[in-house]
Amino acid sequence: MKVFKFGGTSVGSIANMHVVMDIITNGEQKLVVLSAMSGTTNNLVEISDYLSKKNKESALGLISRLEKKYYNLVYDLYSSNEAREKGKKILEERFEVIKSFTSGPFSEIGERTIVAQGELISTALFTLLMQENGHKTVLLPALDFMKIDGDKAPDSRYIKEKLNAILKNSPKADYYITQGFICRNDNDEIDNLQRGGSDYTATLIGAAINSEEVEIWTDIDGFHNNDPRFVENTRRVDRLSFGEAAELAYFGAKILHPQTVLPAKVNNIPVRLKNTMNPSDPGTLITSESSGKGIKAVAAKDGITAIRIRSGRMLNAYGFMKSVFEIFEYFKTPIDMIATSEVAVSVTIDNPKHLDDIVNEIKEYGKVVVDKHQTIVCIVGDVIAEENGLAAKVFMALEDIPIRMISYGGSRHNISILVDEKDKKATLQALSNRLLNNN
Ligand code: ASP
Ligand code: MG
Repeated sequence: MKVFKFGGTSVGSIANMHVVMDIITNGEQKLVVLSAMSGTTNNLVEISDYLSKKNKESALGLISRLEKKYYNLVYDLYSSNEAREKGKKILEERFEVIKSFTSGPFSEIGERTIVAQGELISTALFTLLMQENGHKTVLLPALDFMKIDGDKAPDSRYIKEKLNAILKNSPKADYYITQGFICRNDNDEIDNLQRGGSDYTATLIGAAINSEEVEIWTDIDGFHNNDPRFVENTRRVDRLSFGEAAELAYFGAKILHPQTVLPAKVNNIPVRLKNTMNPSDPGTLITSESSGKGIKAVAAKDGITAIRIRSGRMLNAYGFMKSVFEIFEYFKTPIDMIATSEVAVSVTIDNPKHLDDIVNEIKEYGKVVVDKHQTIVCIVGDVIAEENGLAAKVFMALEDIPIRMISYGGSRHNISILVDEKDKKATLQALSNRLLNNN
């Protein structure tokens, strides 16, 4: 059984919901993961922000605007009064939950429960639409099988066991619908897979049911070879390996949640990125095989902090790196890029939450310099680190751009460079013109 996932824009309007219904109902049985309607998760985050700041009035105002929007939608979405009544019931229940957090103390559980309502609403309304149109459809509650552990990592074994048992015991259907993004945590509370996490839900489910393919449907024709928000004339990439796609997703290509590729890679399940608004386009296919040499795509990730540690103690010593890395480990802060010389090491992080504590500890080891507002530009392709002259071409293209760090040779399919955020657009443009021939 294939897994299809549709993002917020794909279910963001009545017209689009009908398009999604057409795409799904081709007679092949499938499991469909849906995001919340576009804008809803942001609204729900806003509501819980108001509540955590004790601004009840603004929270109630936004709740009632959102409620009104959904009641209007339900009226137009269905054609029978029976379905409209059922739709209203769904909304009543969901908004009851949201409103229950507007009085009394507000906690993180309240926040996570509110944020989960977007997917609970979109899937329930969509299932009803499918049923009203005569399609044999069953809603599978993700909160009954999606689980993360104490480190917020998905519990794949639990998900596999639970989901397969649920599928076995549920009434036979042609189409199964479930919520992306939401899950339970090790305390059995409602939690989530972080913003954009519906993609991750899709591949986790794909792995759990050993699906033949996971299709991720968004509003763009797959991965582009450069960031279309900053560079003109970008092109779709037809094929990527899991490794290449993972690098691109992690280093900024906004189309996929960064962790999505991993479950597919481990279980060797092809992932196809498709465009709901242009279903005949083949999109990007991601598999274990890479195809074609040379540079395939470029992506950029902002908000990076670089930390340089300079120390005489590093000279000819062993164990120095370990001590430095242990500090990052202690503060649960992942390191993205590393560059070393004999007397200094530079690393980058994208989560500055514990920056001050980290810097304080590292000071014990040497002189520390912190550069904020940096961008990692990631250049991805097959065996680029071995191809003759490619590195030279990359640096020629960037001759006018000050480069703060370089990571080359760490993997066969990636060169990463660190530049100041203000030079990002020029960097992407130069790579596009001179390496990807996008003009
Ligand atoms: N609705 C969630 C979000 O907006 C999850 C997702 O769409 O992937 O982040
Ligand atoms: Mg998304």
